[in-house]
Amino acid sequence: MKLIILGPPGSGKGTVSERLEQEFGFLNVSAGELLRKEAAKKTVNALKIKRTIEAGKLVPNHIVVDMIKKHVKNKRKYLLDGFPRSREQAEAIEDLKIEKVLNLDVKEEVVIERLAGRRVCSQGHHGYHIKYLPPKKAGICDVDGSPLIQRKDDVPSIIKERFKIYHSETEPVAEYYRKKKILLTIDGSGSPEEVYRNVKKALQIS
Ligand code: AMP
Repeated sequence: MKLIILGPPGSGKGTVSERLEQEFGFLNVSAGELLRKEAAKKTVNALKIKRTIEAGKLVPNHIVVDMIKKHVKNKRKYLLDGFPRSREQAEAIEDLKIEKVLNLDVKEEVVIERLAGRRVCSQGHHGYHIKYLPPKKAGICDVDGSPLIQRKDDVPSIIKERFKIYHSETEPVAEYYRKKKILLTIDGSGSPEEVYRNVKKALQIS
C-alpha cells in the first residue's frame, strides 16, 4: 500500500508513521528528516536547505520532488510523511499512484502546545513529547540512546510561519485528494495510542 500522511505541524504525523513502520513494515519516508540530513552535508544545496528549514519556509519543489522519488523508486509499501506540501508537489507525483491519504485533524491550540514540548533524537528519526510521550530516561532516545534535542524551527516565531504556509499551501492538498476520493480524515486530538488506533481503523488494518 502507498500512503501519504497529511496534517498541520505537530499533528502527530511522525509518531503515526513510526508506529506504522514498526508494526507493519512500511518504508517511512519523512521529507523533513531527509531534508535535515541533506542540510547537514557539505553540498552546494545544503546551506540553502538549512536556512530554508530554519526560517520555516518550503524547500524548492525540484529538490524535494526528486529526493522523494529517488527514495520510493520500485517500492510498493511506503508512507510519505510531510510530502506533498503543495498542490504542485501533489501533481508532480501522480505517477506514483498513491492509494490512500491520511489527514490528521487537530486544532491549532493543541498542536502549538505539542510543538512546544516536542523533542527529537539527535539521529533524527524518533520523536517524543516531554508530557504526552516522554522517553523512559529523561533527555535520551529509547531506541538509539542519543540525546534528545529541540528542533530550531520549533520556536514560536517560526511555528507561526509554518502554520501560515500550511494554511496557504498544504491545506489545498487535502482537498486535491478528497476529490480523488482517497482522503481519510482522522481525529488527531487524542493520545498517541488513541490516534494510532483511529488510523488503523480507517486503514482497515490490525
Ligand atoms: P517537518 O519535519 O515535516 O516538520 O519539516 C520540516 C521542514 O522541512 C519544513 O518546515 C520545510 O522547511 C521542510 N520541508 C519538509 N517537507 C517539505 C516539502 N514537502 N516541501 C518543501 N519543504 C519541506
